[in-house]
Amino acid sequence: MTLLEWQDQFGSDGACEKYLFHQRWPDGFVCPQCQNTACWTVQRSARTAPLYECTACHHQVSVTAGTLFHRTKVSLRVWFMAIFLVAVDKEGKSVLALSRELGLRYDTAWLLHHKIQQAMKDRNARYQLGGLLELDDAYFGGVSHGPGKRGRGTDQDPVIVGVSLDHQGHPRHIFMDAVADLTRETVLEVLDRRVEHQGVWRSDGASVYAASARAHKADHEVTLSKDPNAPVVFH
Ligand SMILES: [Zn+2]
Repeated sequence: MTLLEWQDQFGSDGACEKYLFHQRWPDGFVCPQCQNTACWTVQRSARTAPLYECTACHHQVSVTAGTLFHRTKVSLRVWFMAIFLVAVDKEGKSVLALSRELGLRYDTAWLLHHKIQQAMKDRNARYQLGGLLELDDAYFGGVSHGPGKRGRGTDQDPVIVGVSLDHQGHPRHIFMDAVADLTRETVLEVLDRRVEHQGVWRSDGASVYAASARAHKADHEVTLSKDPNAPVVFH
Protein backbone atom coordinates (compact mmCIF):
# COMPACT_ATOMS: atom_id res chain seq x y z
CA MET A 1 0.00 0.00 0.00
CA THR A 2 1.39 3.38 -0.91
CA LEU A 3 1.25 6.52 1.16
CA LEU A 4 -1.09 7.98 -1.44
CA GLU A 5 -3.51 5.04 -1.19
CA TRP A 6 -3.39 5.28 2.58
CA GLN A 7 -4.23 8.97 2.35
CA ASP A 8 -7.10 8.24 -0.03
CA GLN A 9 -8.51 5.81 2.52
CA PHE A 10 -7.77 7.67 5.74
CA GLY A 11 -7.51 11.26 4.57
CA SER A 12 -10.09 12.69 6.93
CA ASP A 13 -10.97 12.28 10.59
CA GLY A 14 -14.41 11.10 9.48
CA ALA A 15 -12.96 8.32 7.33
CA CYS A 16 -10.71 7.11 10.18
CA GLU A 17 -13.62 7.24 12.60
CA LYS A 18 -15.78 5.24 10.18
CA TYR A 19 -13.05 2.64 9.93
CA LEU A 20 -12.88 2.35 13.73
CA PHE A 21 -16.67 2.04 13.90
CA HIS A 22 -16.60 -0.93 11.51
CA GLN A 23 -13.75 -2.51 13.43
CA ARG A 24 -15.71 -2.28 16.66
CA TRP A 25 -19.15 -3.12 15.25
CA PRO A 26 -18.67 -5.02 11.98
CA ASP A 27 -22.41 -5.82 11.82
CA GLY A 28 -23.62 -2.43 13.04
CA PHE A 29 -23.90 -0.79 16.43
CA VAL A 30 -24.52 -2.99 19.47
CA CYS A 31 -24.90 -1.36 22.90
CA PRO A 32 -22.28 -2.85 25.25
CA GLN A 33 -24.74 -2.47 28.18
CA CYS A 34 -28.05 -3.77 26.85
CA GLN A 35 -27.31 -5.18 23.35
CA ASN A 36 -29.77 -2.76 21.76
CA THR A 37 -28.81 -2.10 18.16
CA ALA A 38 -30.18 1.44 17.71
CA CYS A 39 -28.16 4.52 18.53
CA TRP A 40 -27.85 8.17 17.76
CA THR A 41 -24.67 10.18 17.61
CA VAL A 42 -23.68 12.96 19.96
CA GLN A 43 -21.17 15.35 18.44
CA ARG A 44 -19.21 16.91 21.28
CA SER A 45 -17.06 19.19 19.20
CA ALA A 46 -15.84 19.48 15.63
CA ARG A 47 -12.44 18.17 16.67
CA THR A 48 -13.44 15.01 18.50
CA ALA A 49 -15.04 11.79 17.31
CA PRO A 50 -18.77 11.57 18.09
CA LEU A 51 -20.22 9.50 20.90
CA TYR A 52 -22.78 6.81 20.11
CA GLU A 53 -25.70 6.86 22.51
CA CYS A 54 -27.93 3.81 22.90
CA THR A 55 -31.56 4.76 22.24
CA ALA A 56 -32.77 2.33 24.94
CA CYS A 57 -30.49 2.75 27.98
CA HIS A 58 -28.70 5.98 26.92
CA HIS A 59 -25.28 4.48 27.50
CA GLN A 60 -22.69 6.49 25.58
CA VAL A 61 -19.69 4.90 23.93
CA SER A 62 -16.95 6.25 21.70
CA VAL A 63 -15.22 4.31 18.93
CA THR A 64 -11.89 5.33 20.39
CA ALA A 65 -12.61 3.95 23.89
CA GLY A 66 -10.24 1.13 24.69
CA THR A 67 -8.05 1.80 21.67
CA LEU A 68 -4.71 3.54 21.48
CA PHE A 69 -6.61 6.66 20.40
CA HIS A 70 -8.48 6.87 23.69
CA ARG A 71 -8.83 10.46 24.94
CA THR A 72 -6.35 11.64 22.35
CA LYS A 73 -5.89 15.30 21.52
CA VAL A 74 -4.20 14.40 18.25
CA SER A 75 -6.58 14.08 15.30
CA LEU A 76 -7.32 10.60 13.98
CA ARG A 77 -6.03 11.58 10.55
CA VAL A 78 -2.61 12.41 12.03
CA TRP A 79 -2.70 9.19 14.07
CA PHE A 80 -3.44 7.07 11.01
CA MET A 81 -0.69 8.77 9.03
CA ALA A 82 1.74 8.14 11.90
CA ILE A 83 0.68 4.46 11.87
CA PHE A 84 1.51 4.22 8.20
CA LEU A 85 4.91 5.86 8.70
CA VAL A 86 5.86 3.84 11.77
CA ALA A 87 4.43 0.51 10.65
CA VAL A 88 5.76 0.42 7.11
CA ASP A 89 9.31 1.60 7.73
CA LYS A 90 11.21 -1.52 8.71
CA GLU A 91 13.81 0.44 10.64
CA GLY A 92 11.04 2.28 12.42
CA LYS A 93 10.56 5.89 11.47
CA SER A 94 12.53 7.94 13.99
CA VAL A 95 10.68 10.15 16.42
CA LEU A 96 12.45 13.16 14.99
CA ALA A 97 11.45 12.28 11.41
CA LEU A 98 7.88 11.69 12.55
CA SER A 99 7.70 15.05 14.28
CA ARG A 100 9.11 16.81 11.18
CA GLU A 101 6.91 15.04 8.66
CA LEU A 102 3.68 15.44 10.59
CA GLY A 103 4.48 18.85 12.06
CA LEU A 104 4.17 17.58 15.62
CA ARG A 105 6.00 18.66 18.75
CA TYR A 106 8.75 16.22 19.61
CA ASP A 107 7.07 14.98 22.79
CA THR A 108 3.79 14.38 20.93
CA ALA A 109 5.63 12.49 18.18
CA TRP A 110 7.41 10.44 20.82
CA LEU A 111 4.10 9.48 22.43
CA LEU A 112 2.52 8.44 19.12
CA HIS A 113 5.64 6.50 18.14
CA HIS A 114 5.72 4.67 21.47
CA LYS A 115 2.02 3.83 21.47
CA ILE A 116 1.99 2.61 17.87
CA GLN A 117 4.94 0.30 18.43
CA GLN A 118 3.30 -1.02 21.58
CA ALA A 119 -0.01 -1.59 19.80
CA MET A 120 1.70 -3.45 16.96
CA LYS A 121 3.29 -5.80 19.47
CA ASP A 122 -0.04 -6.31 21.24
CA ARG A 123 -1.84 -6.89 17.98
CA ASN A 124 0.64 -9.60 17.05
CA ALA A 125 -0.43 -11.44 20.14
CA ARG A 126 -4.15 -10.61 20.10
CA TYR A 127 -5.38 -10.86 16.57
CA GLN A 128 -5.07 -13.53 14.03
CA LEU A 129 -6.75 -12.58 10.84
CA GLY A 130 -9.60 -14.84 9.97
CA GLY A 131 -12.22 -15.19 7.31
CA LEU A 132 -11.84 -13.28 4.13
CA LEU A 133 -8.41 -11.86 3.77
CA GLU A 134 -6.78 -9.75 1.11
CA LEU A 135 -3.08 -10.05 0.61
CA ASP A 136 -0.70 -7.78 -1.15
CA ASP A 137 2.84 -6.70 -0.91
CA ALA A 138 3.88 -3.13 -1.27
CA TYR A 139 7.07 -1.22 -1.34
CA PHE A 140 7.51 1.97 0.56
CA GLY A 141 7.14 4.48 -2.23
CA GLY A 142 5.43 2.20 -4.72
CA VAL A 143 3.22 -0.83 -5.13
CA SER A 144 4.58 -3.86 -6.94
CA HIS A 145 2.73 -4.98 -10.05
CA GLY A 146 2.96 -8.53 -11.23
CA PRO A 147 5.09 -11.37 -9.94
CA GLY A 148 7.95 -10.61 -12.35
CA LYS A 149 8.48 -7.13 -11.03
CA ARG A 150 8.39 -7.68 -7.32
CA GLY A 151 11.19 -5.69 -5.81
CA ARG A 152 13.37 -5.98 -8.87
CA GLY A 153 15.41 -2.92 -9.57
CA THR A 154 14.78 -1.49 -6.14
CA ASP A 155 16.54 -1.84 -2.84
CA GLN A 156 13.36 -1.27 -0.86
CA ASP A 157 12.18 -4.00 1.45
CA PRO A 158 8.78 -5.42 0.61
CA VAL A 159 5.93 -5.18 3.09
CA ILE A 160 3.30 -7.88 3.27
CA VAL A 161 -0.08 -6.31 3.86
CA GLY A 162 -3.11 -8.29 4.99
CA VAL A 163 -6.59 -6.96 5.57
CA SER A 164 -9.43 -9.04 6.92
CA LEU A 165 -12.88 -8.06 5.77
CA ASP A 166 -16.26 -8.62 7.32
CA HIS A 167 -19.07 -10.03 5.21
CA GLN A 168 -20.01 -6.54 4.04
CA GLY A 169 -16.51 -6.08 2.71
CA HIS A 170 -15.45 -3.59 5.35
CA PRO A 171 -11.90 -3.88 6.64
CA ARG A 172 -11.64 -5.21 10.18
CA HIS A 173 -8.01 -5.84 10.98
CA ILE A 174 -4.84 -4.88 9.19
CA PHE A 175 -1.33 -6.15 9.45
CA MET A 176 1.76 -4.88 7.74
CA ASP A 177 5.00 -6.81 8.05
CA ALA A 178 8.22 -5.63 6.46
CA VAL A 179 10.19 -8.62 5.17
CA ALA A 180 13.60 -9.11 3.60
CA ASP A 181 12.25 -10.83 0.50
CA LEU A 182 9.13 -12.47 -0.94
CA THR A 183 10.26 -16.06 -1.04
CA ARG A 184 7.78 -18.77 -0.16
CA GLU A 185 9.54 -19.41 3.18
CA THR A 186 9.38 -15.76 4.22
CA VAL A 187 5.76 -15.30 3.20
CA LEU A 188 4.72 -18.53 4.89
CA GLU A 189 6.50 -17.51 8.09
CA VAL A 190 4.50 -14.25 8.19
CA LEU A 191 1.19 -15.89 7.31
CA ASP A 192 1.70 -18.69 9.84
CA ARG A 193 1.95 -16.05 12.53
CA ARG A 194 -0.82 -13.81 11.26
CA VAL A 195 -3.54 -15.80 9.63
CA GLU A 196 -5.96 -18.49 10.61
CA HIS A 197 -5.64 -21.55 8.45
CA GLN A 198 -9.12 -21.78 7.02
CA GLY A 199 -10.90 -19.14 5.05
CA VAL A 200 -10.86 -17.42 1.72
CA TRP A 201 -7.83 -15.52 0.59
CA ARG A 202 -7.68 -13.08 -2.26
CA SER A 203 -4.52 -11.87 -3.91
CA ASP A 204 -3.33 -10.64 -7.27
CA GLY A 205 -2.43 -14.23 -8.09
CA ALA A 206 1.29 -14.18 -7.29
CA SER A 207 2.43 -17.80 -7.04
CA VAL A 208 3.80 -17.29 -3.55
CA TYR A 209 0.30 -16.50 -2.23
CA ALA A 210 -1.29 -19.37 -4.13
CA ALA A 211 1.27 -21.77 -2.65
CA SER A 212 0.80 -20.34 0.83
CA ALA A 213 -2.98 -20.64 0.54
CA ARG A 214 -2.58 -24.32 -0.38
CA ALA A 215 -0.31 -24.86 2.61
CA HIS A 216 -2.93 -23.21 4.82
CA LYS A 217 -5.79 -25.17 3.24
CA ALA A 218 -7.46 -21.87 2.38
CA ASP A 219 -9.45 -21.13 -0.75
CA HIS A 220 -7.60 -18.74 -2.99
CA GLU A 221 -9.32 -16.18 -5.19
CA VAL A 222 -7.43 -14.10 -7.67
CA THR A 223 -8.49 -10.51 -8.15
CA LEU A 224 -7.05 -8.95 -11.26
CA SER A 225 -7.28 -5.23 -11.34
CA LYS A 226 -7.49 -3.65 -14.78
CA ASP A 227 -6.05 -0.43 -13.46
CA PRO A 228 -2.53 -1.12 -12.19
CA ASN A 229 -2.74 1.92 -9.95
CA ALA A 230 -6.02 0.89 -8.34
CA PRO A 231 -5.72 0.28 -4.61
CA VAL A 232 -5.59 -3.46 -4.15
CA VAL A 233 -6.25 -3.74 -0.47
CA PHE A 234 -9.36 -1.73 0.17
CA HIS A 235 -12.63 -1.57 -1.68
ZN1 LIG B 1 -28.16 0.27 25.77
